[in-house]
Amino acid sequence: MSVAVQKDEMKDKVLLGANVSVAKTGLLAAVEETIRYDANTYMIYTRSNRGGKARPIEQFNRDEALQMMKEAGIVDPVVHLSYLVNLASPKEGTWEYGVSVLTQEIERVHYLGFRYIVMHPGSHVGEGKDYAIRRIAEGLNSVLTGNEDLFLCLETMAGDGSKVGNSLEEIAEIISLVHHQDKLGVCIDTCHNYSFGYDVVNDFDGFLRTFDEVIGLQRLKVAHINDSKNPMGSCKDRHANIGEGSLGLEAIKRIVFHPSLRGIPQILETPGGKYRSEIDAILSRERGPEELYEA
Ligand code: FE
Ligand code: FE
Ligand code: ZN
Repeated sequence: MSVAVQKDEMKDKVLLGANVSVAKTGLLAAVEETIRYDANTYMIYTRSNRGGKARPIEQFNRDEALQMMKEAGIVDPVVHLSYLVNLASPKEGTWEYGVSVLTQEIERVHYLGFRYIVMHPGSHVGEGKDYAIRRIAEGLNSVLTGNEDLFLCLETMAGDGSKVGNSLEEIAEIISLVHHQDKLGVCIDTCHNYSFGYDVVNDFDGFLRTFDEVIGLQRLKVAHINDSKNPMGSCKDRHANIGEGSLGLEAIKRIVFHPSLRGIPQILETPGGKYRSEIDAILSRERGPEELYEA
């Protein structure tokens, strides 16, 4: 079943939405929330980040939700893998747990018909970066068969704790060790990238240039749009509301409306349930997006 895939006419559109809830009615809740934000895409977690058994995906009211999406012009939803997955962990059983949850998640997302899963590469918890990168690639190699109908997108991290995949080079290294590279994508996160030390505020073009050189822009599939509570280079992962952090509204608008991000789902993961006003602030602009990027 191939459903919520992107229509051609959406390729040049700004796709903006938020991390929405699937409480109670599953995908229906997610779509209803997205409609309340007047957004055209969204992200969900299909299982709790506190662990436990996953709710059967058949209970997510898929068909009704997909119909509603079609009518509302909502496309290309993203699924975020559980935080509990850490394919870099040296701890007994953690890697195996991650492989099993990721395998299940791919099946669940196939059922929904979505084409993007975002995952955090992992944390080495003391074993070091090289160990972590090798272990993550081993995990991906034991999960991916090459028959997946989706992209598994590695998220760029903020450099906090013992996380890996903070620099674009680390992401590229993981990708280089994976057999089915055609199934891999990358998710940028404006809070993480800025906090790690990429100046996406003053030179987002430069960041994209580096991305293209190191990874290849064709792998950029998803973007998380967050402000940051901390300055550039702080290596802290604290999301701030749009316009209330170190990035600021203007920089975030430039990113969201950047031509290279057209057709790519851009997802807010900000605190406090202010998505509606944040999306409004980004989209209701005096200067049109075209004006900013006229050749
Ligand atoms: Fe994330
Ligand atoms: Fe994120
Ligand atoms: Zn974050």
